[in-house]
Amino acid sequence: MRPWNFSAGPSALPLEVLQQAAAELTDWHGCGMSVMEMSHRGVQFTQIRDEAVADLRSLLSIPDEFEVLFMQGGATAENAIVPLNLIGRRSAGKADYVLTGIWSNKSYAEAQRYGDIAVAATSGQEKVIDGVAQAPWTWYPDAGEWKPRRDAAYLHICGNETIGGLECAAWPSMASLGAPDVPLVVDVSSHFLSRPIDFSKVGMVYAGAQKNAGPAGVTVVIVRKDLIGHALPACPSAFNYSNVAAAGSMFNTPPTFAIYIAGLVFKWLRRQGGIEAIEQANIAKAKALYSFLDQSGFYVSRVQRSARSRMNVPFFLRDESLNARFLEEAQAAGLLQLRGHKSVGGMRASIYNAVPMEAVQALINYLQDFERRHG
Ligand SMILES: *Cc1c(COP(=O)(O)O)cnc(C)c1O
Repeated sequence: MRPWNFSAGPSALPLEVLQQAAAELTDWHGCGMSVMEMSHRGVQFTQIRDEAVADLRSLLSIPDEFEVLFMQGGATAENAIVPLNLIGRRSAGKADYVLTGIWSNKSYAEAQRYGDIAVAATSGQEKVIDGVAQAPWTWYPDAGEWKPRRDAAYLHICGNETIGGLECAAWPSMASLGAPDVPLVVDVSSHFLSRPIDFSKVGMVYAGAQKNAGPAGVTVVIVRKDLIGHALPACPSAFNYSNVAAAGSMFNTPPTFAIYIAGLVFKWLRRQGGIEAIEQANIAKAKALYSFLDQSGFYVSRVQRSARSRMNVPFFLRDESLNARFLEEAQAAGLLQLRGHKSVGGMRASIYNAVPMEAVQALINYLQDFERRHG
């Protein structure tokens, strides 16, 4: 059996998808070419692109007033591409950011180059929540406390902080924050396709595919049509949403193989019963793992309970001198890539869509066994 892979990204893909890609690798559907070898403008790849867009639209019930774009540069490039495209839609040249951890801070820092950028809320200080003193970046500010400027071009949040293991439980409507003309822009990289998206609440979402949607190399952007067409003159043509939309994500050669694999993941998700079904599975997996950690005196989760991510579960051994041993024995037991991010330390189990309950159960069994032997 293959080991279980808990990597934060690039991360596990569904085995069925890998097997199908392997079977089709040298000859896609009898055309005599690999997807890697075919013209992106030919009939075969056009079909692959069209099906990927259609399957994604169907999975997430994306309304017609949104464009679906396949881009490059990852979420990191979007940190610049978003302000380059959106900040010019209002004359003030302002954008606001909610800071909740490493990724949102990177977005905020990059945006500084393009306008008047402000912090609408931050969890960068300690806060007592439900009687627990939460360290900086281990809690998510309540939407009711975000302070967007009414004339900002957009408000940016990170929906799921992959490193800290924090997820925004529910996105507010911007009207309820007194800023109805400020669209919400969400970096959904690490929880894209793990749960439904309420498109009535957002202007745009974007995701690097390599966490939960496919391989590295393609970035999915879903943006409301009325928000595009205001790019700054400095915006590179290949990163201008208008150009990319007008060209059906083929303004230049797209990352064809990555789009193809993401398309196979979309079809796999449809076979699993769609987003509602995968969300239920994700809820069950997260519940099993957090419940185990909570009853244990040997391990500890330090994230605010109501903001715990369903996708990325950082945890610590109370005796950190056992860390190296824990990881070695985990690997020997067929549980890969559990080391926490260097900025947080400890462990992190990423339990994306392609990581089944069976894997989470295997992890819990290992945690129990390790505790029994070393506790
Ligand atoms: C991984 C990640 C990024 C960075 O993605 P790249 O594809 O490496 O640019 C940004 N935001 C979030 C939430 C991430 O998980």
